Amino acid sequence: MLAAGIDALEGVEGGVITGSGMAAISTALLAVFRKGDHLVVQKNLYRGAFRFITRHLEAFGVSWSETRGTAKADFEAALRAETKAIFIESPTNPRLTVTDIAMVTALARDHGLLTLFDNTFATPINQQPIAFGVDLVFHSAAKFLGGHGDLAGGVVVGREGLIRSTETLANTLGGSLGPQVCHLLQRSLQTLALRIERINENALQIAHFLDQHPSVSEVFYPGLSSHEGHGVAKRQMSGFGGIIAFDLAPDVEPLSFQRRLQLIHTGNSLGELFTSLNSPALASTSLGELTETERAEMGVTRQLVRLSVGIEDARDLIDDVDRALSQADRS
Ligand SMILES: *Cc1c(COP(=O)(O)O)cnc(C)c1O
Repeated sequence: MLAAGIDALEGVEGGVITGSGMAAISTALLAVFRKGDHLVVQKNLYRGAFRFITRHLEAFGVSWSETRGTAKADFEAALRAETKAIFIESPTNPRLTVTDIAMVTALARDHGLLTLFDNTFATPINQQPIAFGVDLVFHSAAKFLGGHGDLAGGVVVGREGLIRSTETLANTLGGSLGPQVCHLLQRSLQTLALRIERINENALQIAHFLDQHPSVSEVFYPGLSSHEGHGVAKRQMSGFGGIIAFDLAPDVEPLSFQRRLQLIHTGNSLGELFTSLNSPALASTSLGELTETERAEMGVTRQLVRLSVGIEDARDLIDDVDRALSQADRS
């Protein structure tokens, strides 16, 4: 029943529910790839997926290339004769990069490849990749789908044949989701559209507020016309989601800013009911474990802040950020 509910949201038939987002991704990849295949991975893919592909899938004889960027030429340059699929995510960490889904699926079709997509950030309320020709879509249900920060779960939806082999392998490997959590997740889906609508509205207001604040140097949110992916985002998203990244001005101490917040809590997860914030470079997240050079290469500076917007009153959230920005220590 849960899988059918998510299928309806994504506009497809056939879905598999797994114990976590990583179980969804790892199981589907193991079902799709065989020894000798090659996979093109978009730059800045979710770190856990990247780690699975580069450390584990590779050990099974599946090779991979990471693109240098998200333009058509970047994907073309990464293709090989043995490429079987392209794995993309949009918008993605750390700067909400937007990938043109229709561009990638057209390229994949021309070369007879599959397109795999992590839709965790956008949710099916804001973006339905299947409609653009994507073959398999993944979700971490711990984020916006669950939406309350109190469950783990994952979803794979997509083309019938691929789903059947993913389902068989999921049963064989055993990473399934228990019935109580399925029930919790199903209840969460009943409010998904309402939550995401509110989150979209709040995030857009906060992004505009941050964008004109003197203590913020740059804001990354696909809903802002200044964002480099805004044009593509408008074509493929009906709302721009709850994740905003921004750079604090160079003199603002990031940890002091965090400590001055009263309503917004600091946390490393995202997609909860209430707004949370972290500094990816300073947190014990998958980005925090990279070396400083690797982080700089990805655009994760000390001043970068990631905000996961919730359903509170937008005015209260803006006041909280405004006060913390004005009270934070300056260097
Ligand atoms: C959290 C997350 C995952 C992994 O999901 P888990 O449920 O934590 O295993 C995958 N992709 C994205 C974009 C995520 O944010």
